[in-house]
Amino acid sequence: MNFDSDYRMLIGGELVTGSATLDVVNPANEEVIASVPDATQDDLDKAIAAARTAFPAWAATPIAERKAKLAALGQAIMANADPLMRLLTKEQGKPHAESQGEVMGAGYWLMAASQLDLPVTVNEDSDDRYSETRHVPLGVVGAIAPWNFPMILAMFKVGPALLAGNTMVLKPSPFTPLSTLKFGELAAQLLPPGVLNIVTGSDDLGPWMTSHPGFDKISFTGSTATGKRVMQSAAPTLKRVTLELGGNDAAIVMPDVDVEKVAEELFWAAFRNNGQICIATKRMYVHKDIYDQLRDALVAYAKTVKVGDGSEQGTHIGPINNKQQYARVLELIQDAKDKGYKFLVGGEKADVPGYFVPVTILDNPPEDARIVQEEQFGPVLPLLKFDDVDDVVARANATDYGLGGSVWGNDEDKAFEIAQRIASGTVWVNETQHLSPMAAFGGMKQSGVGVEGGVEGLLEYTNAQTIVRKKRKEAVAA
Ligand code: NAD
Repeated sequence: MNFDSDYRMLIGGELVTGSATLDVVNPANEEVIASVPDATQDDLDKAIAAARTAFPAWAATPIAERKAKLAALGQAIMANADPLMRLLTKEQGKPHAESQGEVMGAGYWLMAASQLDLPVTVNEDSDDRYSETRHVPLGVVGAIAPWNFPMILAMFKVGPALLAGNTMVLKPSPFTPLSTLKFGELAAQLLPPGVLNIVTGSDDLGPWMTSHPGFDKISFTGSTATGKRVMQSAAPTLKRVTLELGGNDAAIVMPDVDVEKVAEELFWAAFRNNGQICIATKRMYVHKDIYDQLRDALVAYAKTVKVGDGSEQGTHIGPINNKQQYARVLELIQDAKDKGYKFLVGGEKADVPGYFVPVTILDNPPEDARIVQEEQFGPVLPLLKFDDVDDVVARANATDYGLGGSVWGNDEDKAFEIAQRIASGTVWVNETQHLSPMAAFGGMKQSGVGVEGGVEGLLEYTNAQTIVRKKRKEAVAA
């Protein structure tokens, strides 16, 4: 398999080119590295029709066989981890080590998710009747993925949807379609035709999908603003939706932490993947007794971090993935400058090709600052001071987002107690960003609808069906 060219969509088991193409840019140097098919409505119709045709046989395939196929697909990703991770760095920007982690994680996710089972609940087994609730697949799922973790976030959907017996049309972000298309070539060798279809295209393709009557469900990961459009567009045909959306996670750092020990971990909580993580720490609330010490430790560490091309050895942080997001991050930095907030490090745009933004840390801007209230999704972190737990919990919760959050403290019970007061789908104590295929992950408030992961995530790809069987009296008597 050639990973460096020949990017084709997967429709009905065939690898197909499009009538038009779309350029993909390496964010580290702004050079066009590839072109991919720009799907037409007709291409999308064909992909949905292929998924619809494949659905009955796939749904009827014993779950053990579906599990085996998904596990084999996970193994195929791992076996091709090296070329896939190089491709991912080229299109996404993240350093090779992180791409490697994402690709291996994607393989692992499919393998682990394939261990889950669909539960059957016996509601009644009396002399009069037997009643059970089981879970049947929905049909054809439309999956829409973002550009920050293109491979693994797609697998969050592929694993459970296919395991439950659905078929799928998957659309990667137009900024990061390459690794997903090569994954499609692996899938073409392992899955029956039509079970998984992959289409790439420009801005129209997502809305075509969400409004298309051929889908039974849309599983979407992306921004809150787009999530609202997806839900609206899915409403006329009452498609099921799972929406994994934006976040503005707070980290609360208690005064009893060992500052020197946690500084590095806290730094990466905010800056891993260049801050382009839905569950990155986007506001860091630090107790006033340790504020100066932690601030100085973070700044000292930030100065040791190398920002550069992710394919070069020694790079810790790559570029922002795309021009739009780059412009947005620079705009937030400019706003902070205009308001006179204090920059501890960073804030100056590098005058080189590529969408590079230096690691930027702000010193206690006001709570109503845009950089505190909005999701920055980039390498800009506001440090904020607190001295009262009730006050910091209120500040952490004063947002429409509710995706993640973390509490850091040596008194784990105290930290755990505070964690339970954070209104977010996931809250970590003394770590962050740990996700598992066995655990439900999703957003409260405007961070999402529904969950991915765990049995709860699997069930989102099913309809609950209750079957009630009246027992014949003579059968009971016999
Ligand atoms: P985005 O909303 O711009 O795009 C996400 C996907 O939706 C892309 O494939 C895009 O092409 C498609 N899309 C765009 N407009 C559409 C429309 N009107 N209808 C249907 N599809 C459309 O998001 P992004 O910039 O790619 O990703 C960053 C955002 O995603 C951040 O807000 C981040 O927090 C969020 N995110 C959330 C999670 C999570 O699990 N909760 C994970 C990763 C990223």
